[in-house]
Amino acid sequence: MPNKDAHIWAAATMELGALVCTSANPKCELCPVISQCNWRKNGYPKSELIRKSQDWHGTDRKCRGTIVQALRENESLTENALKKLWPDESQVEKALKTLIEDQLIQAIPRQRYRLPQ
Ligand code: SF4
Repeated sequence: MPNKDAHIWAAATMELGALVCTSANPKCELCPVISQCNWRKNGYPKSELIRKSQDWHGTDRKCRGTIVQALRENESLTENALKKLWPDESQVEKALKTLIEDQLIQAIPRQRYRLPQ
């Protein structure tokens, strides 16, 4: 990582990993760092790291996804209706707040929510 402009390096490597150097199908012919790539030079050895996956169930992301999916399937829903979709009401309240801040849903009169129009 460079000492200067590390944020640019971080963004660039994330883009490289997302678009060019995917683990399942690296597109080496398009890669800007092909001449420096040891993984390719060594024949793409398998990683010895054990990948940890985040348990999706019960997470804030899952709660937010549940709300957005319900609003996709309905023109609008009340807060009470949305709270019935998830076991933790406080997590729904938090998800509604952050979804509004992220402009992924809209609050409309009478404590109803909908997708942006
Ligand atoms: S050359 Fe290396 S870094 Fe570039 S895409 Fe291929 S494997 Fe990934």
